[in-house]
Amino acid sequence: MTAVLNPDICVIGGGAGGLALAEAAAGFGASVVLVEKGRIGGSRARAALRMALIASARQAESMRRADRFGLAAPAQEIDFAAVMASVRARAARTAPAYSAERLGALGIRVIPAAGRFKNRSTLTAGTVDVRARRFLLATGSLSPLPDVPGLEEIAPLSEAGLFDLTARPDHLVILGGDPQAFGLAQALRRLGSAVTLVLDGPCLPDEDPELAAVLLRRLRSDGVRIVEQARVTRLERSAEGGFTAACDVRGSEDRLEGSHLLVMTARVPDTDGLDLRKGGIATLRNSGAVRVSAMLRTSNPRVYAVGDVAGAQAAPGLAEHQAALVLRGMLFRLPAKQRELFVPRLVLADPELAQVGLTEAEARKQTRSPRILRQPYADNDRAQAEGHGEGHVKLVIGRDDRILGVGIAGANAGELIAPWTLALSKGLTLRDMAAQLAPAPTMGEIGKRAAIAYFASMAAATVLRRLAGLLRLFG
Ligand SMILES: Cc1cc2nc3c(=O)[nH]c(=O)nc-3n(C[C@H](O)[C@H](O)[C@H](O)COP(=O)(O)OP(=O)(O)OC[C@H]3O[C@@H](n4cnc5c(N)ncnc54)[C@H](O)[C@@H]3O)c2cc1C
Repeated sequence: MTAVLNPDICVIGGGAGGLALAEAAAGFGASVVLVEKGRIGGSRARAALRMALIASARQAESMRRADRFGLAAPAQEIDFAAVMASVRARAARTAPAYSAERLGALGIRVIPAAGRFKNRSTLTAGTVDVRARRFLLATGSLSPLPDVPGLEEIAPLSEAGLFDLTARPDHLVILGGDPQAFGLAQALRRLGSAVTLVLDGPCLPDEDPELAAVLLRRLRSDGVRIVEQARVTRLERSAEGGFTAACDVRGSEDRLEGSHLLVMTARVPDTDGLDLRKGGIATLRNSGAVRVSAMLRTSNPRVYAVGDVAGAQAAPGLAEHQAALVLRGMLFRLPAKQRELFVPRLVLADPELAQVGLTEAEARKQTRSPRILRQPYADNDRAQAEGHGEGHVKLVIGRDDRILGVGIAGANAGELIAPWTLALSKGLTLRDMAAQLAPAPTMGEIGKRAAIAYFASMAAATVLRRLAGLLRLFG
């Protein structure tokens, strides 16, 4: 028999956006039902596994390169099953944050089932019908399987399935251009697998090519094979238990042999099986994302949408920010509109690649002649001492010292981008960034030095030098 629930709020999808709203709403005393078809935590929980794997691979790499620090490299035997057990154990430490028990203790009722709309005011999930006052769609995104003959027979791995492996893949072929595939490819290579990345377009098309090159150089020197502009036309099982992929690489035929296939195509909004039409919820024709107003309301005023499913730039922080806006609308009826946001993005690999604001190419489309400043890691004492001299910070500067964008390729880029994100959000100028005191010795000084270099180059300008010379005449 179908039970009927009538909560204040029903959240569909327990990832970054859904959890943020469910927890905050429950905190304000609203009755909340959370419908989740998979693991609570969404892509954040999966990212924990990837982070743990990348950390293991980084350790393996630093042991291999111990001689750079005057230490004999220990003989390295990689027990893949033990590495994966450690990866799962470390990722599991994040699990309490994503447990039904913790949410239950906060007063949130979790329904472990896929949700689908029955009509404009009812969602069905398992044996329950939820008729909530308000709904939040936060179902995230997924990597679609490409339409390639033979794919089903190969039974490709998903990112989640990769972490269940106990034996090292001999040759992992990764299909797709999800930016997070790059760190994963590098990690598996460093743990002893042969790895080939096959992309139907160029590598990291949204990133600044000169910064992306720093990361791609390292991946290639680690032994990751990258095949760009390649279309897989057929997949076949081979006698040895692996597979063969026929590819069209810029018009020429190529064949790849692999043992495991992982699909990480660019993600698209996940509206699978939601029956949005029955819910009166419109989607955008080009992207498939749910159409939302500036207040994140869908075409059904009872339903809001946040995060990847609403076509937001994929970033957990943005989904959470949007959830906070929706909460104001749902609970307090405050008209909360999205304002311009600077959302930093990160490609987690070694080295890291981080970007906030405009890249050089984007800035050139908007402004006549942005100034470009580069500050190499090699000029930073801490980076050199720790063996991280590769990479640089790149600043894109507009008129009146306005910071338009910042990109960083190098160690800890994800941490180093944080003050620049704040600077962009608060409209600080490069002069403000040059005036701040950075703790020393840190890699955080690289950014400040870039800002100082800008004003030093201005000081070298003839007019200013003449003025300084003139003033010297007066004592
Ligand atoms: C595999 C993966 C890895 C990522 N890695 C990174 C990264 O390293 N760095 C980064 O900045 N961003 C990363 N992202 C993007 C980032 O995590 C997302 O932008 C962010 O988490 C979006 O939050 P969300 O709430 O929209 O969706 P998610 O956090 O993805 O949560 C969506 C949830 O909805 C559930 N769901 C879907 N359909 C239904 C249904 N019909 N009924 C019930 N539940 C449903 C899913 O099971 C999932 O738990 C990743 C995304 C994915 C998918």
